[in-house]
Amino acid sequence: MLSRKFSGVNVDKYCFILKFKLVDNNNFISFVAYLQNIMENIMEQVLSNRINSLSESQTLAMARISRELIAQGKDIISLSIGEPDFATPDFIKEAAKKAIDENYTHYTPVPGYLELRKAISLKFKRDNNLDYSPEQIVVSTGAKHALTNLALTILNPGDEVLLPTPYWVSYHDMIKIAEAKPITIHSGIEADFKVTPQQIEAAITSKTRMFWFSSPCNPSGSVYSKDELFAIAQLLSKHPNILIVADEIYEHINFLDKHQSIAQFDFIKDQVITVNGVSKGFAMTGWRIGYIGAPKWIADACTKMQGQFTSGTCSIAQKAAQAALEADPISITPMQEAFRKRRDLVLKLMSEIPGLKLNVPKGAFYVFPDVSYFFGKTDGETVIKNADDLSMFLLHKGLIAMVSGDAFGNPDCLRLSYATSEEILTEAIKRMKNTLALLK
Ligand code: PMP
Ligand code: GLU
Repeated sequence: MLSRKFSGVNVDKYCFILKFKLVDNNNFISFVAYLQNIMENIMEQVLSNRINSLSESQTLAMARISRELIAQGKDIISLSIGEPDFATPDFIKEAAKKAIDENYTHYTPVPGYLELRKAISLKFKRDNNLDYSPEQIVVSTGAKHALTNLALTILNPGDEVLLPTPYWVSYHDMIKIAEAKPITIHSGIEADFKVTPQQIEAAITSKTRMFWFSSPCNPSGSVYSKDELFAIAQLLSKHPNILIVADEIYEHINFLDKHQSIAQFDFIKDQVITVNGVSKGFAMTGWRIGYIGAPKWIADACTKMQGQFTSGTCSIAQKAAQAALEADPISITPMQEAFRKRRDLVLKLMSEIPGLKLNVPKGAFYVFPDVSYFFGKTDGETVIKNADDLSMFLLHKGLIAMVSGDAFGNPDCLRLSYATSEEILTEAIKRMKNTLALLK
């Protein structure tokens, strides 16, 4: 029974609507859904403005909906979440077991064990030719946490952050948590989803504090070349107040050639925070280890922030990450090769679907087709107005889960993760083709 006062909220209004709805509607399922909706409305009024202003992560939401439908017995193929389907390599798991046996079970230094930060420092030098000393490195609970630390540590209310679209879904809300303003810069499929220095320059104002991007990019798979990064670095070096957040978490899933970091140019390095982690390259999403290399004043500030929130991240996962990063990167070549084969397969099969516009992703494990051809089309009563409608149509009619491009700031597209087996991908794209063919 609802009480009249629920943490200061007057619920009479809701009780009235409830009675009205009870008389009016005998359908139990819609009644329960309605009740849930009312409770959510009430809860919203007692939560902070901060949380109410955030959206649920659309990647995680789609993964959740798929799981719920699967639990109801539906044969859903989920290509919604971006996580390698491979198991963590054995030598990494062994390092974690050893860490437990050797009692690495206590609180760790807030920025991470010194041995791990030394391993990251060597990795930066070995793989990226970057000089970050262990004091310039902070290890966090996933790259997601490392990025949130940065937003909370650097941004003030009203600061502007330049965000090329499509962007990874959480950047937008991380910036909003810090009460700063995401300023999107559009890039479409015709530009291979990459922005130019001219576009960036046109978006800079006196309030611009950050330029924030990923390469290889989630969701488009685009990769900025060394020349393109140089041109962006040249522009931003003329604006020393603007920091660059370079998210390089897909470093090891790059089909072009060697990964390129924007911090490699000495004249910009003091403005760059390089973000990376072990989730994608080493199939370690559940271990929750991400890190930054940054100017020391930023690393110190992130450590201070982290000291009040989470402390140092999991001791055992840190030891596992150390083993991963100390190993020769050749150990993960089979996974990279599998991703390349899957990308080629998916592109071949999707190119046979009329109406889809495709670019060739050069990295990460996503395809981001432009699906605007289907907007305005119908199947019986169902009208497809946008990518959200199309993703729901594909989910309920085709039993295949993908994420609407709207979540990534590009409402003409859909994101498909191909981090799954070739058999599943083949079946998924067959379903996609058949379902899209229903739209007239
Ligand atoms: N950046 C990008 C671009 C990502 O796709 C992800 C995936 N979740 C992250 C950061 C966060 O990774 P982590 O699992 O290390 O938190
Ligand atoms: N990065 C993955 C994705 O984009 C994981 C999900 C998440 O952390 O949001 O799907």
